[in-house]
Amino acid sequence: MCQNHTTTTKVLSVASATAPFERTTLERRVLRPHDLLIDIQFSGICHSDIHSAFGEWGEGIFPMVPGHEIAGVVAAVGSEVTKFAVGDRVGVGCFVDSCGECEYCLSGEEQYCTKGVVSTYNALDYDGNPTYGGYSQKIVVTEGFVVRIPDALSLDVASPLLCAGITTYSPLKHWNAGPGKKVAIVGMGGLGHLAIQFAHALGAEVTVLSRSLNKKDEALSFGADHYFATSDPATFTELAGRFDLILNTVSANLDVDAYLSLLRIDGTLVNVGAPAEPDKYHVFSLIMGRRSIAGSLVGGIRETQEMLDFAAEHGIAPQIEVISADQVDEAYQRVLKSDVRYRFVIDVSTL
Ligand code: NAP
Ligand code: ZN
Repeated sequence: MCQNHTTTTKVLSVASATAPFERTTLERRVLRPHDLLIDIQFSGICHSDIHSAFGEWGEGIFPMVPGHEIAGVVAAVGSEVTKFAVGDRVGVGCFVDSCGECEYCLSGEEQYCTKGVVSTYNALDYDGNPTYGGYSQKIVVTEGFVVRIPDALSLDVASPLLCAGITTYSPLKHWNAGPGKKVAIVGMGGLGHLAIQFAHALGAEVTVLSRSLNKKDEALSFGADHYFATSDPATFTELAGRFDLILNTVSANLDVDAYLSLLRIDGTLVNVGAPAEPDKYHVFSLIMGRRSIAGSLVGGIRETQEMLDFAAEHGIAPQIEVISADQVDEAYQRVLKSDVRYRFVIDVSTL
């Protein structure tokens, strides 16, 4: 089924960094030869949506339709689509285009495209048009930026994997989390609760560092071997020099020196949490143990597919709370209070 007209879709958008969500509509582009029209069913709420919609990372493009944890079904395909057919269960994550020619695109790491990857929302595409994300009933995406959702994963559960899943899986793989490695996960929110499951499935010894003891039982059920409260200063004495890898998923600035002191010689602190303000640390925290600080951005399309297949195979699934379109403003406030177990997912049929 080819389409030579734009598609009207219902969306949830914010008009400014201080405005509440409102229901509006917008037009999705006419299908190009390699485009898919996707009927979105579920869209996860990532803390990045909040940073973006509230203008915390700099001025946003408004009106804004956030959402980069998109799960749905292919509704129509362009004339030259080869990878997907109408009816396929698919996902879209944090980006929807890249140059396709630079060394990073060619090696499957499109997120680091030298021309600049096109984010799923709050960005301009290569034609200069704003992109609008997944708090929406329909989206048009070129097939190279779409992944297949394995049958074992329901679409609501699959949606958070498209950002929170790949953002934690990719650095765990890159820094060789596996048997014999001691890995700490800092922050047990949307990203953190998936990081525990992936690190455990990869064979690492997993320690969770959360502010309080409130989430301990669930952390252990997700596969954590140990759990400590960072509000207790004794935690930092007890765990000094312990970890090969620390994955920081926290949305706020931390005492970086304190976390670096938990690394073994040659250990690495990898930041995926993305607070707006710069971090501060003392270089001696690195020098004295040949330690590294690093960061990681989501993951490429090929690795996202690998992550979904790995999740399906190992029974890894986000714990979600499905909400309606009316509850998104409230859900944002609850995420800010860490009052979410552990990911809100919007049922976009309620739009
Ligand atoms: P989330 O669900 O809000 O989880 C963040 C967790 O951090 C909270 O559950 C809490 O865990 C901890 N935390 C929150 N405020 C804290 C504070 N002031 N001090 C210490 N700990 C605090 O958020 P998320 O969706 O997982 O996203 C986390 C961060 O990753 C955000 O900054 C987001 O923008 C970023 N992100 C980055 C990428 C990337 O590609 N690098 C991709 C997606 C998201 P405890 O209650 O257990 O302490
Ligand atoms: Zn995200």
